[in-house]
This record gives sequence, structure tokens and C-alpha cells, in this order.
Amino acid sequence: MAVVAAETRVFLEVRRRLQSALLILGEPDEGGMNLDISVTPTSLSMRSPDGCTEIRFPAGVRLAPSSCGGLQYISGDGLHLRLRAQAESSPQPISGFNQSLQAQECCSFYCQSCGEVTIKDRKLLRVLPLPSENWSALVGEWCCHPDPFANKPLHPRENDCFVGDSFFLVNSRSDLEQEPKANTKVICKRCKVMLGETVSSETTKFYMTEVIVQPSEGSFPNIPRSQFVQSVIARCLVELCTARSTFRFTIQGQDGKVYILLWVLNSDSLVMEPLRSSGCIRKFPLLEDSLEAGSGSAWNAIKVLYQPCIKSRNKE
Ligand SMILES: [Zn+2]
Repeated sequence: MAVVAAETRVFLEVRRRLQSALLILGEPDEGGMNLDISVTPTSLSMRSPDGCTEIRFPAGVRLAPSSCGGLQYISGDGLHLRLRAQAESSPQPISGFNQSLQAQECCSFYCQSCGEVTIKDRKLLRVLPLPSENWSALVGEWCCHPDPFANKPLHPRENDCFVGDSFFLVNSRSDLEQEPKANTKVICKRCKVMLGETVSSETTKFYMTEVIVQPSEGSFPNIPRSQFVQSVIARCLVELCTARSTFRFTIQGQDGKVYILLWVLNSDSLVMEPLRSSGCIRKFPLLEDSLEAGSGSAWNAIKVLYQPCIKSRNKE
């Protein structure tokens, strides 16, 4: 049975470090493919008796059609083509903490969900990374003397911001009317989302997935919630993989309950999946950002293997 080219599912993954690409032309639901496929360095065109579809790759991505080696038809999935590719190195991921933030600039902390200001005009003179959460265990293993830093928690002073693996620590005194107690939730006044918690009477911990820190003069960047959370978690995972040479993680709740087991497989993928459209020429748009479909961009992605642990699955 002939299949209209426009109905064929297309998926492209480019590995930036390996400079390779996997192009999948999905098998349609009805089965059977009758397509003339041609790949140029910058586009893919599919011709069937019923019509023709051309898909352009985003700027900065070029495939080498002559390098097509592993041509494979996988029943139920479709045609797999492996090619050499050229892709520019990945741009900076979205960060809750404005990368261009200079020390001594006045900053504000915003609730990422609704944009409400949580800390206004805080002058941060020192923005410092915290040692990893397993620091004490490492000191214990490597030193022949007791950990000299044990029981000396790091408390930021008024103009400090300490950056942990997944949180920011700031001094809480000047922003709250009454003395805050330890271990209480910090809730957004407007949308009631939990932004963090108080660690002690003078230290507040804000979760990176919940707040955005911006220079006070700048405007609050409006990033879709799921895109922001994905990007923050991806950046945390990439940083942890690099810093600790480990690729296996658990995602736990506040109560220590494990929700997901994660293995990071790679972090250099560029993933493109075109939206269906009735037009003859389609570009690969950013998956969520269909408003900018004309820009021909794509997702930077990390590839993970995961096992859910909810509902008593994977207890061991
Ligand atoms: Zn809010």
C-alpha cells in the first residue's frame, strides 16, 4: 500500500561529540512503505506516489549522505539510517542562576512558576560552590584524622550565596519579619508552591527547580515550567556526571523515598522530531516551542534509562 509521505514519522538524533546521526523513518500504522528517500547535507525529502515532503535540518547541522552505513529496516519501528554528521557544540543550558551574574550586582530571587519575588535586591558579594553532599564521607575515607569540618555547617552571610548540587543557600535574616525556625517550608506567597526550606534560623535553602535568580534590573524570563525543570535537572545530571564520574542516580523525595532510578547514557544529543503539518515543506521545530517553528531549532537532550520505583516497583 502506498503511503502519503507527509504521514511518515521522522526522528533524528545527532551526537555532537561522536559527530554521528541516527535518522529513523517510522513505519506508518497501516504498515507498508513505498517511499523514495533522498538525503542531502541539509535536508531530507520523501517522495511517494501521493506527494512529496521535504524536511530541512536546523542551522548548524549537516549530514554526510555518502557516509550512510548501517541501513536497517526494523519491523514495527521503521527504517534506520546511520550517517556521519556535523553539529556545532551545544549552547549553554537554561540555568536558574543567571550565568552572566557578576558579584556585587543586586539580585532578586523569583518563583519560577509565577514570577513572584521572594528575595528582592540582595547584593551578592560572594557566590561560591559548596562541596558535594558526600564531602564528609570522602574526607572520612581519605584522611587518617577525623574530619575537621564535621559539625561545622556552612552558613552564608548576608551577601553570600552558596551553590549546592541542586539548591542555593542564602542568609534569611534580612527578608523575614520574624525569626524563622529551622526545617520549615518556604512557600511562594502568590502560587503556594514550595520554593525551599529553612535550614537554620539564619539560612534558607532554595531548590534550583523552583527559583530563578536574576539581576534586579533585568526582567523575569518567562520559560515554560516543564522546559525549565527538564533543563535544570539535565544540567544537574551533566555536572554531577562530570564531577564525580558516576552515571547512576536516584531521585528522592524530601522524606528520602526513592521515586526514580536513572542511568545517564549520553549528554551530547541533539534531537529533532518534526511536527506534522499539511504544508509541503516542514522544518524541525523545538518540540514545545511551536511558536518559533520557523527557526528550525531542536532539543539539546541527555539520554537516560530510567526505572520508576513508585507503587512498590523495583523495591530492590
Ligand atoms: Zn509562585
